[in-house]
Amino acid sequence: MSQSTDIAANLTMIRARIAEACIRANRAADAATLVAVSKTHPQDAVVAALAAGQAVFGENRVQEAEAKFPGLRAAYPAMRLHIIGGLQTNKARDAVAVADVIESIDRPKLAAAVADAMAKTGRRPDCLVQVNTGDESQKSGVPRAEADAFIRAAQDDYGLPVIGLMCIPPAEGDPRPHFALLREMAARHGLSVLSMGMSGDFEAAIAEGATHVRVGTAIFGHRPAP
Ligand SMILES: *Cc1c(COP(=O)(O)O)cnc(C)c1O
Repeated sequence: MSQSTDIAANLTMIRARIAEACIRANRAADAATLVAVSKTHPQDAVVAALAAGQAVFGENRVQEAEAKFPGLRAAYPAMRLHIIGGLQTNKARDAVAVADVIESIDRPKLAAAVADAMAKTGRRPDCLVQVNTGDESQKSGVPRAEADAFIRAAQDDYGLPVIGLMCIPPAEGDPRPHFALLREMAARHGLSVLSMGMSGDFEAAIAEGATHVRVGTAIFGHRPAP
C-alpha cells in the first residue's frame, strides 16, 4: 500500500470512530472536528490528506507550518491551519500570519504579542487558551489556578478573539478528569470550543464534550524520535 493510501484509509477509520464516539455520547455525529496533526511529516502527507477530503490541520511549530501550508492555500481554499504548540513571543507575528486558529495562548506576554500582531496586520485568527490541567512544569499552558483570570484578561485586556480552550492531559493516568475540568471551565466563560483528545484518547475526550480532537499518529503514522 502506498503512503497516500494509508493516510486516506486511516482518515476514513478515524472519522468513523469520531462519529461513533459522538453518537455514543448522544451528540450529533459531526459534533467533533478532526484536526489532523501533520507535524514532522512532509508536505506530501498533507497533500494526501487534503486529497482525501481532510481540511483542518494542526502543526506545533510555526516555522514548519510556514514551510508546508501557505503554498497549498490556492489549491485548497477550504484548508484551515491550527497552531497547537507552545509559542514563543517572538513567533507571535508569524503565527498570526500563517494560522487560522492559534490554540496555545497561555500567558500575558504572549497574549500581548499576538494582540499587537493582530493590530498591525489586521489578521485575527481565532484563539484558544491552553490550560495546563495537570500543572506539569514541562508543559505549556496556563496553570489551573490562574486560568479563569487569564481567560478573562485574554479577552478583556488584550482583546483577543478567544473562542475556546485547549489542554493536553498528563501522559500517565486517566485523562477524563482533565477533559471534564476543561469543559466546566469553558462553560463558566461561555466558550463553545473544546480542543482535547489525541490519538490515544480522543474517544474519551468526545465523551466529555470535545468539539475538536487533534490526531496525528493514528493518521500519519509514527513520528521520528526527537
Ligand atoms: C503532536 C500533538 C498532537 C497529536 O498527538 P498524537 O498522539 O500523535 O495523535 C496533539 N496535540 C498536540 C498539542 C500535539 O503536539
